[in-house]
Amino acid sequence: MEHVLEVRNLHKDFHTKKGLLKAVNNISLYISRGETLGIVGESGCGKSTTGRAVLRLVEPTAGEVLFEGKSILELKPAQMRNMRRDMQIIFQDPFASLDPRISISEIIAEPLRVFNLYKKQGGERRVAELMDLVGLSKRLVNTFPHELDGGRRQRVGVARALALDPKFIVCDEPVSALDVSIQAQILNLLQDIQQRLGLTYMFISHDLNVVKHVSNRVAVMYLGKIVETTTSHNIFTNPQHPYTKALLSAIPIPKVGQKRQRILLEGDVPSPVNPPSGCIFSARCPYVMEKCRQQEPPMVEPAPEHTVSCYLVSDEMG
Ligand code: SF4
Repeated sequence: MEHVLEVRNLHKDFHTKKGLLKAVNNISLYISRGETLGIVGESGCGKSTTGRAVLRLVEPTAGEVLFEGKSILELKPAQMRNMRRDMQIIFQDPFASLDPRISISEIIAEPLRVFNLYKKQGGERRVAELMDLVGLSKRLVNTFPHELDGGRRQRVGVARALALDPKFIVCDEPVSALDVSIQAQILNLLQDIQQRLGLTYMFISHDLNVVKHVSNRVAVMYLGKIVETTTSHNIFTNPQHPYTKALLSAIPIPKVGQKRQRILLEGDVPSPVNPPSGCIFSARCPYVMEKCRQQEPPMVEPAPEHTVSCYLVSDEMG
């Protein structure tokens, strides 16, 4: 299947007072057309920076980002600006990303105005169309963000992201600021418009349960690195990396009387300024061996569409 996005050996470093912070540390991934790749990991693992780096909202330090086969890191600012029509983002906190002084119709119309499309596309009609697409009633057209509940505000954020008819959207924790009861509505909306418009998503979340519902494949990140990638089904039925297993063990089973054996990780997540040598997970892994602390394990493919970086897996493969 054609890859809409391909990321090769992407790095993003930040210079901090404490030293060089490797927020994204040599990650590679692809997303096929119409697919959702979930990116999951604890706060501070680099997943949001990855989402921003592939859109060049933060400039990658090294690596390659190909969008529909075209290397976007070489694009000049004006070319990149045009490319952004196809590549959009939905932010975590809809209220923070919406200007409280302008009405929601103006917020949705803003991208059209930036690209001088408002008049050309019959601005008011297009805004009404977008509001309808995301399930916002016409009567809300002149309301302001603070007058809406969290779910409706996020619908405004989605409508705005759709205004320029993008092909690819980074959904950065789009439901984590919402009440649980509203989360399902927004997830359903995102899936519905994906099918209707043929969109491709990178879906970023700290919540493996949320990621499971929307993703075709899942990449698990820890301290700036991807440690495992596989199908959404496999990540739940056949996780291979000890960190994935620990994340999974924290999810309650909905069936009464059934319990998962919770794997409690010792210690805190190490600082990305001073990550452990060898395997990135070695400081907290219950199965750590001497060689894990010396050299990074290779990324191996124990089954088609399943990649893992762990000696337990590579040793078994021989
Ligand atoms: Fe644990 Fe070693 Fe595997 Fe890393 S390589 S996850 S430390 S067993």
